[in-house]
Amino acid sequence: MAEALLQVHDLKKYFPIKAKWFQPQSFVKAVDGVTFSIMKGETVGLVGESGCGKSTTGRTLLHLIPPTGGEVIYKGKNLTKLSAGELRVLRKELQIVFQDPYASLDPRMKVRDILLEPLEIHGVGSKQERLKKVEEILEVVGLGGHYANRYPHEFSGGQRQRIGIARSLILRPSLIVADEPVSALDVSIQSQILNLLQDLQEQFSLTYLFISHDLSVVKHISDRVGVMYLGRLVEFAPKESLYASPAHPYTQALLSAAPVANPDAKPQRIILSGDVPNPSNPPGGCAFHTRCPYAIEKCKTDRPELKPVDQNGHFAACHLHES
Ligand code: SF4
Repeated sequence: MAEALLQVHDLKKYFPIKAKWFQPQSFVKAVDGVTFSIMKGETVGLVGESGCGKSTTGRTLLHLIPPTGGEVIYKGKNLTKLSAGELRVLRKELQIVFQDPYASLDPRMKVRDILLEPLEIHGVGSKQERLKKVEEILEVVGLGGHYANRYPHEFSGGQRQRIGIARSLILRPSLIVADEPVSALDVSIQSQILNLLQDLQEQFSLTYLFISHDLSVVKHISDRVGVMYLGRLVEFAPKESLYASPAHPYTQALLSAAPVANPDAKPQRIILSGDVPNPSNPPGGCAFHTRCPYAIEKCKTDRPELKPVDQNGHFAACHLHES
């Protein structure tokens, strides 16, 4: 059986809301008890609507923002218990690719300096060796080494994302959190970047957490998929099982709204009533009960936990599956 590279247990990230002096402190529970693991060499996709907590989950598990609670175990080490110095050493192995290739690259820095920066911070090699690594990594992501002398504004969106990928890859990480890496790109460019990520995964034995709101993109690249709603995982399953037989009503609704390539198909779209509730004051019980077409009385009071719905690693948090 494959070994887990990363285990996330009951991860929480609460953001305080500025309260008036006579009011009790309240919080937005952006991530509220998320548990899953990622096997070595695997791609786990995280999907959900905007504001469901998927990006915060990615950043919190990397400790780019400190978690409010829970544990993140990477190669047997509990990241939440490490000192700042120990965490800094591990950062080489845990990298992120950001969504917006325009905002994530400093416009005042040449590509060479953008790529040299992580090597210098971590004291990798001599100056000559570092410059050689920059040229090599630009070749690896499909840009020539001669691009190193240019500024980010001289590149297209797809090329900038290649530079962002090169920056995350140059320290030879084990795990990359790809946070909506193609959603700011034209559809024609998206597939090139997805193919590049898949080629790099094979070439460098990478493990990915791939975050996206786009179900078809996640289906293309992932081995297993987690669906988030209001800071919690509501379903987690192997890709084939989740897309063929979604168990949670929220996943069913998301999938019914996804475009289908077959013009003869007549999809039965499930229309959800209402908007996503306010995350600072989520509904009690199952947080989805205000929009769920199958809600029963128990859903208003009892919060369902993620439980197996089959013997093949398919989990859902829904009272309908508890029997
Ligand atoms: Fe719907 Fe109840 Fe299941 Fe929540 S627990 S998804 S409200 S049926």
